[in-house]
Amino acid sequence: MKKALFLAPALVLIQACSGQTDPPVKTPASQQETTSAQQTNPIQDLYNHYKDHKEASISSGTVSNGSLKNGRLFPFKGTNFIYFDSTSYLDKHAFVHQKVYETVLKTYERFEQIEPSFEFGLMECSKENGGKIWPHRTHQNGLSVDFMSPMLKNGVSTMDFNRLGLPHYLMDFNENGVYTEDSSYAIDFNLIAHHLLVLNEEAKKHGLKINKVILKIALKDELFATEYGQKLKTSGIYFATQLSDLIDSLHDDHYHVDFTIAD
Ligand SMILES: [Zn+2]
Repeated sequence: MKKALFLAPALVLIQACSGQTDPPVKTPASQQETTSAQQTNPIQDLYNHYKDHKEASISSGTVSNGSLKNGRLFPFKGTNFIYFDSTSYLDKHAFVHQKVYETVLKTYERFEQIEPSFEFGLMECSKENGGKIWPHRTHQNGLSVDFMSPMLKNGVSTMDFNRLGLPHYLMDFNENGVYTEDSSYAIDFNLIAHHLLVLNEEAKKHGLKINKVILKIALKDELFATEYGQKLKTSGIYFATQLSDLIDSLHDDHYHVDFTIAD
């Protein structure tokens, strides 16, 4: 279902994006071979350009009709997380409000102790100044983040799909969270629930509230049946209950979180 509805425009996006970003930022291949010691890293350059910005972030409007000022750019990679796609990153789709930035990174820092060998995946956020960001309906004011669903292979944590890039959004799972292309892979619902619980704690500490989580409706049973899912169910975190078929089908390989500023 997801592929049928989404594959064609997504492939167009992949092609369009790679065309946009390659020429201005990449060192020519011939130069890379001869001057590897001095070669530039466009991803690191982009992060360095924004990392010391200190002005207060301002999210205006709503997640579906809004803008962002003085957002923060996530690092492409940290100790236990990675941003999913270099083209998306270079297109500057990894900006968020500073409180979201601090909340998400502090949550990952806590998981360095909780799940030391696991690497999380961050997916699309907002553009530098917010606004419309295809193909998302929201993600417009720096308060929305897509989190890659952690996965298991034969019941054991795996990071096999962390570097799949943009096609990660097209991965399809059945109603039990099993990957349709290879049934040895399944969504790690317990880790999603644990992540959301810690994220919720950190959100409160950083002056935010989780306003809404979007996960495919048919997968919520599996999520709430896990050990941490049972705690999540009583946490008061709101999950979307009615979604269009397209939006519903998209939210299995990742889950979407909208924050609101609490103070
Ligand atoms: Zn999203």
